Amino acid sequence: MKTMAAESMRVVRPGGTIGILGGGQLGRMLAMAAARLGLKCAIYSPEDGSSAFQVSDWHLVAAYEDHAALADFARRVDVITYEFENVPADTAALLARLRAVRPSPLALGVIQDRVAEKTFVRKAGIGTAPFVAVDNEAALADAPAVTGLPAVLKTARFGYDGKGQRMVRTARELVPAWEALHRAPCILEGFVAFRRELSLVAARGIDGRVACYDLVENRHENHILRTTLAPARASARTRGEARRIAETLLAAFDYVGVMGVELFETEAGGLLVNEIAPRVHNSGHWTIDACTVSQFEQHMRAVAGWPLGDPVRHSDAVMTNLLGDEIERWQELAAQPSTAVHHYGKGDARAGRKMGHVTRLYPLGLRPAD
Ligand code: AMP
Repeated sequence: MKTMAAESMRVVRPGGTIGILGGGQLGRMLAMAAARLGLKCAIYSPEDGSSAFQVSDWHLVAAYEDHAALADFARRVDVITYEFENVPADTAALLARLRAVRPSPLALGVIQDRVAEKTFVRKAGIGTAPFVAVDNEAALADAPAVTGLPAVLKTARFGYDGKGQRMVRTARELVPAWEALHRAPCILEGFVAFRRELSLVAARGIDGRVACYDLVENRHENHILRTTLAPARASARTRGEARRIAETLLAAFDYVGVMGVELFETEAGGLLVNEIAPRVHNSGHWTIDACTVSQFEQHMRAVAGWPLGDPVRHSDAVMTNLLGDEIERWQELAAQPSTAVHHYGKGDARAGRKMGHVTRLYPLGLRPAD
């Protein structure tokens, strides 16, 4: 029987299969990148007709709680990863007993819970907004003494794109905000009057080597990422600080794979971690067209135990998400110069749904003013 140490060094050769939990656009772009390396992908998703099925070798439609289906999936793939961070911790743990799961279920478990995540970040010596865990009314009433007001109340688990959060401006708004979140376990965070939102996508290989993409700037609309500007216009000090943060977190988690680190740049110029994504990240989509090795290929390399690719940028880029019926513009966008159109092949263009993205490329240093 193979030891756990041998399993942790397992390399997937061309022809091997990477199992991906989750079938959305991230899984789709992972599978497309894997194909370039001669690797196959299998997708596990509870949703019939998932976007990633169209470009993968095979797929399995089953619930994340279906232990028999999970065991069958694990037996048929060489290594397992995810494109979706809300995979139940039990699911990841069960799979890890059968196959190498990268990144580890430990990192996933910490990052799934905003309180555990921010506690971990602080312990690693990295700044966050002041925060307090809230799971009863007394804790809620006391929390502003730590966070100050205004503050943001967020559900500890399962929040994304601004869902599951409420702004709290005065103490009187605390209880109504918590009720609106169905009194779920929450975190109250001090409101950061940030100058900009930045992020950094980085990867760590099974040999512990780290590769960081450029620091980028993100602009949101209605809490959904609209545009990523690559690279962020930032001082060498800020760029170095962001890299140090990513490197520290990757090492602290003994992480294998790509991680996205969302940052607030404060008015004073410092960086605070807002959130970690234990997967490829929307703010890294520009790397498909502006780097030799994209974040998707980088993640496939890392989880397959390959050497990481060079994350260097050969062009500057502006990535814009196509939400809802904006995808109908595919023909007009496809006719534009230096523009890569990415269509996720999803059927139902609901308002706000990520249906695709476009990346506009510029020669290095020649991106127009932001
Ligand atoms: P999150 O789901 O934590 O990434 O939050 C979604 C968005 O809400 C962020 O991208 C910010 O624009 C905003 N936000 C979240 N937390 C804070 C905070 N503590 N202070 C100010 N803005 C925040």
